[in-house]
Amino acid sequence: MNILISSCLLGEYVRYDGSANACEDIIFQKILNENNIFSFCPEVEGGLSTPREPAEIKNNKVLTKTNKDFTNEFTKGAEKALTLCIKNNITIALLKAKSPSCGNNMIYNGNFESILIKGSGICASLLNKNNIKVFNENELKELIDYINFRL
Ligand code: SF4
Repeated sequence: MNILISSCLLGEYVRYDGSANACEDIIFQKILNENNIFSFCPEVEGGLSTPREPAEIKNNKVLTKTNKDFTNEFTKGAEKALTLCIKNNITIALLKAKSPSCGNNMIYNGNFESILIKGSGICASLLNKNNIKVFNENELKELIDYINFRL
């Protein structure tokens, strides 16, 4: 199965602060071993540098704490992710939880208060709308079940 995975989960140093978020879960390793993986970071692909200011979604815009508007870059990165998925017949994505790009069910509230609310990041949301099933790193078992169901 072809799977799009957030680059930071694969250990790439692409997070806003220049760090990675390598997933060490044994199920994650199994997913890597048994599938065809496409690493992708929508924020970097959208043209943002690393490190970069952290951003959150507020009123349908992606803004940094100093009020820089990253909406265009986030949107471009999400569109590139979708194009990659369509071209390569990718119907599953495993994306980093809580990110304003990659988060699939919870994101921060837009006020930089570390408060999570229901919602999804720009990339996760676009993929989901286009029938690409999005999981996060806390839903690895669900992802495996989904693959087994599809096989
Ligand atoms: S945009 Fe996604 S892949 Fe890139 S660093 Fe943030 S969570 Fe990771």
